[in-house]
Amino acid sequence: MASDCLFCKIVAGDIPAKCLYEDELCLCFADINPQAPTHLLLISKLHLPSLAHATPQHAPLLGHLLAKAGEVARSHTLDRGYRVVLNTGADGGQTVDHLHLHLLGGRPMAWPPG
Ligand code: AMP
Ligand code: ZN
Repeated sequence: MASDCLFCKIVAGDIPAKCLYEDELCLCFADINPQAPTHLLLISKLHLPSLAHATPQHAPLLGHLLAKAGEVARSHTLDRGYRVVLNTGADGGQTVDHLHLHLLGGRPMAWPPG
């Protein structure tokens, strides 16, 4: 845990979040500023600042997060499709330096992204 990290504080229960799923590796909760009718975040419990900090040893964790995103999408009946986003670094639009996936659905998504 990083003491100054917002998402580590959510993992620790020090900051409240609308939690929808939790297991030993990850936590899923509603984004506080939703950009789509469904906008959830899947975060690793491990403090990893970004995908750029991941090494091959993190492959099981990354696979778990992606698989869970698919499961959560199914449980939210996003049958028409959805988008999974992993912003990385300043140019990637990352604002919270703790690895997380966005799961967005409930409306058509534009391409290319902004
Ligand atoms: P990113 O810009 O990819 O780093 O995504 C960070 C996301 O965290 C943004 O979509 C924010 O709206 C969201 N966020 C920030 N603070 C909170 C919070 N306390 N609870 C839930 N979501 C948050
Ligand atoms: Zn953290």
